[in-house]
Amino acid sequence: MKKIIAVDGPAGAGKSTVSKIVAAKLGYTYIDTGAMYRAVALKSSQTCEDLIMIIDKINIELDDKAQVFLDGVNVTKEIRTPEISKLASDVSKFGFVRKRLTELQRQMAERGAVIMDGRDIGTQVLPNADLKIFLTASLDERARRRFEELKAKGQSVDFDAIKTEIALRDKQDSEREIAPLKQAEDAILIDSTNLQVEEVVEKILTLCSTD
Ligand code: C5P
Repeated sequence: MKKIIAVDGPAGAGKSTVSKIVAAKLGYTYIDTGAMYRAVALKSSQTCEDLIMIIDKINIELDDKAQVFLDGVNVTKEIRTPEISKLASDVSKFGFVRKRLTELQRQMAERGAVIMDGRDIGTQVLPNADLKIFLTASLDERARRRFEELKAKGQSVDFDAIKTEIALRDKQDSEREIAPLKQAEDAILIDSTNLQVEEVVEKILTLCSTD
């Protein structure tokens, strides 16, 4: 059984939904690295301090229910706004931010069997992962999923605005100099455009159990 699983891909591809289910089924720890960049973004929106100072002393913790704690405060909901999505992509360009979060992510991965999702897990954070997945879907489908998700939460949303936001974030994440979003050479591509969540989960579980 593969013990270290890396899942990368663009925004809204379903990485966290699928990874959480796989983690629960296998009894693995799920680590949402996007939540960590979001926590840095939230902190930088709350203070005038330099990002370099923030990074130096920031404390980010993830619990086993995928809740996110920033300096001891539960910020699970606050980090999920469109403003923080954009700001997370902005702060993630900086080498010193990536270096610190990569260190923390590697420490977290040492705790045992893990499934970690993000943008650079297979390429930078865990290059020796036992299984690497690159999960994607068409832009329209990813925007549609995000639209439905926000609508279900009672938020008033505009499909075109969501699509534009996702496209811009992917462009920024793919074109940055340090650790850009890209498929690792040894990653397995799963295009979930026409797949249900359960089908993607099944594919990953099968890949986990095959040698
Ligand atoms: O995965 P999520 O959409 O929550 O990530 C928010 C942002 O954090 C991404 O758009 C990306 O800029 C950044 N990120 C990253 N590297 C990761 C995970 C997320 O640069 N491993």
